[in-house]
Amino acid sequence: MTFEEAALCESLNRNVSKSGYKKPTPVQKHGIPIISAGRDLMACAQTGSGKTAAFLLPILQKLMADGVAASRFSEVQEPEAIIVAPTRELINQIYMEARKFAHGTCVRPVVVYGGISTGYTIREILKGCNVLCGTPGRLLDVIGRGKIGLSKLRYLVLDEADRMLDMGFEPDMRKLVSSPGMPRKEDRQTLMFSATYPEDIQRLAADFLKMDYLFLA
Ligand code: AMP
Repeated sequence: MTFEEAALCESLNRNVSKSGYKKPTPVQKHGIPIISAGRDLMACAQTGSGKTAAFLLPILQKLMADGVAASRFSEVQEPEAIIVAPTRELINQIYMEARKFAHGTCVRPVVVYGGISTGYTIREILKGCNVLCGTPGRLLDVIGRGKIGLSKLRYLVLDEADRMLDMGFEPDMRKLVSSPGMPRKEDRQTLMFSATYPEDIQRLAADFLKMDYLFLA
């Protein structure tokens, strides 16, 4: 697959070109068609492999194809996608990449993590939020405050899942996935990325992904 064959819409194509990405990395080449086809995916991929664009591009493509636009005046925001990563550095990188790809479109990504004031975070969310990026604890916090509704959620991405386990986030991840209103796994597309694939990650994949999920290593 080339980026042309990924059939991205014009604005996404333009933003990919502006990023200087000419050729997809292996995880993009193999992952984008799987995600575009709507399948759940467990991918073993390291930082630096290009995994962020591998999940962002097909998700953003689908949101744009469906004409998703941020509802700027709503007191409860209902993101179509939630992306979870273990550290503020990582989630910020994902957010920056999402912003870059969504530039000039109606899709609005927002980032939440500990250390930014809750008031500021909530104000940013209420300006419109289609793709909510966050660390596990802060995501639970904003969802618990009733400012995030989950009825439109279609994509859930758990990035660096092994690091999330190492950092003790398993209870938070499980709480997040079973938050009131969270669509059942049959009704959402779930993507997990992890550098390693030990037993505890296999268990998480079995719990969070549909039974027929694809495995990419
Ligand atoms: P990631 O593994 O997603 O953290 O990406 C690692 C780095 O590779 C980031 O700085 C990306 O901007 C860059 N990158 C991702 N995909 C490509 C690509 N297809 N061509 C060139 N650089 C890329």
